[in-house]
Amino acid sequence: MLELYNTATRRQEPFVPADGKVARVYSCGPTVYDFAHIGNLRTFVLNDILCRYLAFNGWEVRQVMNITDVDDKTIAGAISEGLSLSEYTEKYTQYFFEDIEALNIEPAWKYPRATEHIEQMQALVQKLIDKGHAYEVDGNVYFDISSFPNYGKLSGARPEDIDGAGFSRLEGDEYEREEAGDFALWKAAKPDEPSWDSPWGPGRPGWHIECSVMSMEYLSPTLDIHTGAVDLIFPHHENEIAQSEAATGQLFVRFWVHGEHLVVEGEKMSKSLGNFYTLRDLLERGHSPQAIRHQLLTAHYRQQLNFTLEGLEQSERAVQRLNTFIARLPRLPLPEGSSEEAVQLIEEARGNFEQVMDDDLNVPGAMGVVFELIKHVNTLLDASELHEQDRTRVLDFLEDADSVLGLMTEQLEAAKGEPVVDEEIKALVAEREQARKDRDFARADEIRDQLAAQGIILEDTAEGTIWRRK
Ligand code: AMP
Ligand code: ZN
Repeated sequence: MLELYNTATRRQEPFVPADGKVARVYSCGPTVYDFAHIGNLRTFVLNDILCRYLAFNGWEVRQVMNITDVDDKTIAGAISEGLSLSEYTEKYTQYFFEDIEALNIEPAWKYPRATEHIEQMQALVQKLIDKGHAYEVDGNVYFDISSFPNYGKLSGARPEDIDGAGFSRLEGDEYEREEAGDFALWKAAKPDEPSWDSPWGPGRPGWHIECSVMSMEYLSPTLDIHTGAVDLIFPHHENEIAQSEAATGQLFVRFWVHGEHLVVEGEKMSKSLGNFYTLRDLLERGHSPQAIRHQLLTAHYRQQLNFTLEGLEQSERAVQRLNTFIARLPRLPLPEGSSEEAVQLIEEARGNFEQVMDDDLNVPGAMGVVFELIKHVNTLLDASELHEQDRTRVLDFLEDADSVLGLMTEQLEAAKGEPVVDEEIKALVAEREQARKDRDFARADEIRDQLAAQGIILEDTAEGTIWRRK
């Protein structure tokens, strides 16, 4: 049974969707003011693995991921490039979609944009005012954290004088736990900044309110799972809880799943240190998206991942091993039937795969199971002990594992196009091998040409001749 570590309870707990059927997952998405960096992408790959594994367990997954297309950073970026806010954010939204596609991240169910939900955000702000949880000052609306006794339940942040009125009102979106205070739900317009009309005058929403609104709009007042990286626990997620629970009176999130950060060569990524990578930077250096995805999966999600170019080289070699295996397996001439040993190996691999994934999504462990199986299958092949039906079982297992890992999708798809048995080709290849042994090179070449005309390429290896389609 799947267990997930829940930041809210600080324990690993069995997970089942509240209604037993549909997993309602909300993931904080990108702020579209720049290209995503590989740290962001690590978090998006984690979301992907989580949703894929929920589906693997047989639940229908509804994942909503917001696109933050209005905040301090997007506004500043649009102004500095002389573009409208929407032109500017649309550009980076498209880059984001390209990046996740390259990394074989399955699309979320919905990607709502903050600017398309301004009305709903205003309605929630009004509701909070009406219920005595928010107040207006000069066209700004703030959430009154002293009105919400549970403030701090996720992150532990709790200002000393929460029962007094002594703490400050916070303008910016991000701040430290010690600074906890009343935060902005709605911000009065500044000159030259984009704004929307509202009951409190022209302005724009604060950052936190969008996630409360869009999760309720598309999912339900109580989410099964809410994801993000650890930097969002405070203030963002703490504030989402306050807004949502103050408004609905219901639990906002059953499971909070937070991914640890990625660092580069042991240091926090920053543009000034020159260790800041986007996906494009790595692709330009000649790395494959497949290896990058592999590298992002090499640490458990609750551990920091130290991203290094050397590690990425290792990932290139690892995925190469996978690819070679998947390309070779369907083409090998194998005896009919199956062997007890192979059947057992594959059953064991299946069991182990689910066991490690059930244990709070132990992806490095799951990849270990796949590579271990490949090693054993290669040993069986070397000993001519793998049979036709075992091969099918191995490929079936890899396909199931890949529905979660997403690491060999293209390769498995290509392998499917390969007829596992092709009697005519097999017979011609055997005849050619015999001709070569008999030093009848004319016949051997004739067969090679005949097969080439059908788009079949032959390769003579130490283990005999193998063939593939062009
Ligand atoms: P942003 O586009 O800044 O809103 O961030 C998108 C996602 O990436 C959020 O879930 C962040 O918490 C996450 N994130 C930011 N920096 C890192 C990092 N270094 N490693 C992993 N995730 C990160
Ligand atoms: Zn959010």
